[in-house]
Amino acid sequence: MIVSSVLCRYGHSPASKGRVTVFARVRFLPRAVPLDRQETKMTRRRQIYEGKAKILYEGPEPGTIIQYFKDDATAFNAQKKGTISGKGVLNNRISEHVFTMLGLIGIPTHFIRRLNMREQLVRQVEIIPIEVVVRNVAAGSIAKRFGIEEGTMLPRTIIEYYYKDDSLNDPLVSDEHIAAFGWASQDEMHDIADMAIRVNDFMAGMFAGVGIRLVDFKLEFGRLFDGDFARVILADEISPDGCRLWDMKTGDKLDKDRFRRDLGGEVEAYQEVARRLGLLTEEESAVLDLDEHRKARGKTPATVPTEAAPDTKPPAI
Ligand code: UDP
Repeated sequence: MIVSSVLCRYGHSPASKGRVTVFARVRFLPRAVPLDRQETKMTRRRQIYEGKAKILYEGPEPGTIIQYFKDDATAFNAQKKGTISGKGVLNNRISEHVFTMLGLIGIPTHFIRRLNMREQLVRQVEIIPIEVVVRNVAAGSIAKRFGIEEGTMLPRTIIEYYYKDDSLNDPLVSDEHIAAFGWASQDEMHDIADMAIRVNDFMAGMFAGVGIRLVDFKLEFGRLFDGDFARVILADEISPDGCRLWDMKTGDKLDKDRFRRDLGGEVEAYQEVARRLGLLTEEESAVLDLDEHRKARGKTPATVPTEAAPDTKPPAI
């Protein structure tokens, strides 16, 4: 019975092949719902949610989730779509590294362990519907909103909150809106702001150590329930998809702006980040090279800050 219920939940077990799995599915899944809507063919696990860059599956234990990192890339609230081949593998590794390090300095996170090239096991949380953006240098929407030149050092680190709602284009909101509409309590927002600053301090140092400027990044938090008690922990992912990372010497963008602004060399840039963080073997590092990509496009290294293409995106996406 235990085996059956496991098979029922995931469609397979490490040992499951063929008939047993099919039997369990037929026996336990509602027939009215097509199987391919409940389980992906590739992993045969129950899919909980599919986002722009990740798929979430039910995890092996109650209270766990498997995050699958896709190669899909979107920008400008999904008005621009594409695929960056290999991105999911790199983001899985980079996010594993960052979350592990943050855990080591005492930031509570949802990360449990990486399972394979594209998947990681995480704790199930109730996501707080706020995107927390931390900025050290003006870029993207803040540069556009206040007419500040991209690359201008901000006088102090700025934390912004955006309400997560694609249909509203993730509007910029204040603490007042968050409290008034009950998206998070004052205590939770206090914890979130504290953690965001600690994450920024740690990551800015970590990236500076490998010659990368941490311009800005986005965090998401979730509530981890323990009976009636809930505490806020860091969730989602931290990868070049949600950070602006500039090479300190050349100003090259090593993040999703390469995709947003049609600069090309996306996967090379993500790989460069992973390589500098010591996450790739020499063999893996040799596969792709941003310098080679630049040369092939006839570009010489730029000076800091660089490639400041006009910000054509709508605000707060
Ligand atoms: N960001 C993100 N997801 C979003 C919006 C922003 O990961 O939905 C990240 C983005 O990659 C950047 C930072 O948050 O590192 C600040 O983004 P900004 O507000 O400048 O918007 P953008 O110009 O990236 O749309």
